[in-house]
Amino acid sequence: MIVMSSAALAIISVLLIIWPIIKSKIYIVNKSVMLVELDDAANRETQCYEEIRVAISDYQLGNITNVQYIDIIGKRRTAAAVALMDRSKIIADISYMVNQIEDQVSSNRRINGTLGDLKECENCNGLIEVSAPICFRCL
Ligand SMILES: [Zn+2]
Repeated sequence: MIVMSSAALAIISVLLIIWPIIKSKIYIVNKSVMLVELDDAANRETQCYEEIRVAISDYQLGNITNVQYIDIIGKRRTAAAVALMDRSKIIADISYMVNQIEDQVSSNRRINGTLGDLKECENCNGLIEVSAPICFRCL
């Protein structure tokens, strides 16, 4: 009886430990890694702004020194800039892929003879069909 309850306790302990890992894998499976990284960068950026807000408040209340304030603000500003650059790069990568897909679709339609007359988009200068209501590159 003691062996059974010890085994059950061990199994429950292991499940409690690995549950966050399983949960995070499920999250990644349901969402592309690129979108997870995009959310992560946005969250890091937001966290930096919150830490800067707290540092300003602490400084105004006299809870931290000038040196601590300058150090915290400097590090958080740098971290926010890195997160912003990460986010910008991911968005640029997604935009590049969308343009590649649009070019491939247009190429396939040209081969199939289903592509109509083209005009230049006023926003992105990409080629779109004259009859197209929207430019997929500009969405
Ligand atoms: Zn466009």
